Amino acid sequence: MKLKGRTALVTGGSRGIGRAIALSLAEEGADVAINYVSSEPAAKEVAEQIRKMGRHSVLAQADVGDYPDTFRMAQDLVKEFGHLDILVNNAGINSDKTFVKMDHASWRKVLAINLDGVFNCTKVFIDQMLKQSYGRVVNITSVIGQIGNFGQANYAASKAGVAAFTKSLAKELAGKGITVNAVAPGFIETDMVQGIPEKVREKLLSQIPLKRFGTVEEVGRAVVYIVSSDGDYITGAELSINGGLLM
Ligand code: NAP
Repeated sequence: MKLKGRTALVTGGSRGIGRAIALSLAEEGADVAINYVSSEPAAKEVAEQIRKMGRHSVLAQADVGDYPDTFRMAQDLVKEFGHLDILVNNAGINSDKTFVKMDHASWRKVLAINLDGVFNCTKVFIDQMLKQSYGRVVNITSVIGQIGNFGQANYAASKAGVAAFTKSLAKELAGKGITVNAVAPGFIETDMVQGIPEKVREKLLSQIPLKRFGTVEEVGRAVVYIVSSDGDYITGAELSINGGLLM
């Protein structure tokens, strides 16, 4: 097992990609805290599955867009686990509209959760990681942050911001035992993608060289690779998992 003795927090671990990342980390031996904002039953189910694997798992409710809330979560979690080795900033939302129809509230909400959320959660754990001279931070970005998309100016801007944040932090923390990387999924089968109308799905599939959407498990395993000792020499990277959509 590659992550025995490690502790991890996955933001937005209750559903979709975050859930798969949490289960993949636990399968490799990590104790995993599940952050969520409102889906408590779903978060409990993930924690229960992890406990069945013989690992420790706790719920870590907080709105990642709310700095005091994330500060409280970090205090509670470090008390519970004693330390935090792996932080996966996965929580994210979209609120799609063409720019002409996009109001300021929708812009702010997406930026507050997707971009400020990554700042908040990293900020509240960084002193602990510096103290232990060890940390693995993985930020979930998106192919949309790399290529832009019709109706997703807010979402694309938030993810491109996280990618730039990742590289800056990787440079600042490289000498301190902390790596900072991003994983950029393409279209992955989750609630976020299942809402796409059939015609648009077909068009998207025709543009993906591997001719299918990705699975959440494929993203989970990539995160394990980065945070295990296999990925010790990787920092400041943005690993694409997009079936060849961008190359
Ligand atoms: P999802 O199924 O909609 O799940 C979103 C997760 O984020 C849920 O666990 C949700 O918690 C949590 N969350 C939302 N707002 C939050 C907040 N304010 N504070 C804390 N947690 C919050 O999404 P997904 O498709 O798995 O996406 C996960 C990440 O991958 C996102 O960052 C997304 O941008 C990125 N991504 C997704 C795709 C894709 O194709 N699906 C592609 C590229 C990138 P609750 O359950 O409590 O609501």
